[in-house]
Amino acid sequence: MSEITVGLGDRSYNIFIRPGCLNSLCDGLKKFNFSRRLLLVSNPTVYGLYGGALFKSLVGAGFEVVVGEVPDGEEHKSLFQAERLYDLAFSRELDRRSPVLALGGGVIGDLAGFVAATYLRGVPFVQIPTTLLAQVDSSVGGKVAVNHPAGKNIIGAFYQPVAVFTDLNTLLTLDPREIRSGLAEVIKYGVIADDGFFTWLEDNIERVLGLEAGAMEYVVEKSCRIKALVVQSDETEQGLRAILNFGHTIGHAVEALTEYKTYRHGEAVSLGMALAAELAANIGMLEQSTAERIEKLLVRAGLPVKLPLNMDRERIIDLLRRDKKVISGALTFVLPTGIGRVEIVRDVSGKDIAGALKG
Ligand code: NAD
Ligand code: MG
Repeated sequence: MSEITVGLGDRSYNIFIRPGCLNSLCDGLKKFNFSRRLLLVSNPTVYGLYGGALFKSLVGAGFEVVVGEVPDGEEHKSLFQAERLYDLAFSRELDRRSPVLALGGGVIGDLAGFVAATYLRGVPFVQIPTTLLAQVDSSVGGKVAVNHPAGKNIIGAFYQPVAVFTDLNTLLTLDPREIRSGLAEVIKYGVIADDGFFTWLEDNIERVLGLEAGAMEYVVEKSCRIKALVVQSDETEQGLRAILNFGHTIGHAVEALTEYKTYRHGEAVSLGMALAAELAANIGMLEQSTAERIEKLLVRAGLPVKLPLNMDRERIIDLLRRDKKVISGALTFVLPTGIGRVEIVRDVSGKDIAGALKG
């Protein structure tokens, strides 16, 4: 069992990582002074697999569980579903010490977290992430949100959970494509912050793809430690936290261009990382051989690194200019300068971007 503390003063919390911890989570909840009644948010897919056991153990520990089921899918990370959960919470008289538990992937975590942040101006929030992406990324750091027709994640808050319970066994039922998608964020951590971890991934990627228990525990723990360090030093993204956006600038544009239908988030981020590495190499910030190392690991993880030939490069550049992270017209990119090191570059030219997108 690993335990990682995200140190944020009075908003500090622990991440507990252990295979099977879903069954003993109630011990971990006891120390919080929660009300007896709680809201458990999940979707039918995840609840069907893990809800029953969790429900039973919560009831066994004396909780009264109100289940808020949300349909499966990104389109349900919406204000409409948030409102349904508020209605449920009010009708069951959940109070300010009633925790909201999120059992699921990033969609459930973001939505339940948004509800927890806003219901009665904030109630305790517990993350129980069940996808690799949620375990290494979305459950840590306190970004919660719903989507709006005007854009993804643009209605939200920074709201930290009081605890994260990560049961590695839940990964065993996940679609392999979801595992690979989560791995893109894992590889990202190596590139932005830890060359030793990147090298370990190069040496152990087959064990990881095979979901070997020891390898998965290491991957999730290491990723959470890196994210925790970044979040601790810049909780609300005033500066350093932006390095977590490595690969995301082009990634988001590709996701938008393909209307979120063609690529899983991690796949788009993989493309974005490979292209950002190529861009960095083209402008002399990164050794060509290092860009190739990054690309090679992504390929071995089963992730895409090349834009399809028929994808409209001009439109990608247009979308980049509209990205919410563009400050006063200049295109900002997180670019690697080596393995484990990145720089935030604020004035990348359209010509250099076009060059990287060409291939
Ligand atoms: P997801 O939540 O949609 O889960 C992917 C699929 O896997 C779903 O169909 C889900 O029902 C299913 N599933 C979940 N756990 C399972 C399990 N153990 N076994 C079998 N199936 C399971 O997708 P995701 O990739 O986890 O999360 C994506 C979301 O996360 C996006 O909305 C994104 O914006 C958000 N996100 C948030 C942050 C953050 O910091 N808050 C960071 C990254 C991503
Ligand atoms: Mg991401």
